[in-house]
Amino acid sequence: MGNTTPTICNDCGERFVTSFAGGLGYDTLYCDSCAESTEVLFDRAMHKKLEENYIPWVERTVNKCKCGGSFTYDAAPRCPECHSVDIEEV
Ligand SMILES: [Zn+2]
Ligand SMILES: [Zn+2]
Repeated sequence: MGNTTPTICNDCGERFVTSFAGGLGYDTLYCDSCAESTEVLFDRAMHKKLEENYIPWVERTVNKCKCGGSFTYDAAPRCPECHSVDIEEV
């Protein structure tokens, strides 16, 4: 499952494939400092309980990226080569 989209970096010209949300019931979080992403199972029960605090809770509980950065809902997908966020679908 999951969609992959051919993507090009406007900074270094690297062509790569961006994968979006792994499927129904999963959220994709991107690292705030490199091109890594992680998939988090959407926790319906916790979402109902925490409401607007759900997102910060997920960001707190998800593993740190191996680069030392954090996976967040706000982080944008990045170029795997130069880590630019100036990328677009082709
Ligand atoms: Zn790049
Ligand atoms: Zn990272």
